[in-house]
Amino acid sequence: MTRKYIDCREYPSEMHCSVAISADNEDELLEAAVQHAVSVHQHQDTPELRQQIRQLFKEESPSMDMPMSGRTGAESEAQRSRPT
Ligand SMILES: [Zn+2]
Repeated sequence: MTRKYIDCREYPSEMHCSVAISADNEDELLEAAVQHAVSVHQHQDTPELRQQIRQLFKEESPSMDMPMSGRTGAESEAQRSRPT
């Protein structure tokens, strides 16, 4: 699954906000990003704002995943109990 993210540094603001938000789908991300824009940047929650935010969405690169992450310890456990 590809996660979506938005980096606030790419949103034109005078605050130089460095917050990045990510979520598994665009609707979740949009809600979080709109809340951030309203509470931190004092934007109005309008259809125009939501459209603007949507344009900043990016897909998280799969290459960012660590090669060893997500593996269970079962395999290495079996190897360790192997008689020498
Ligand atoms: Zn921000």
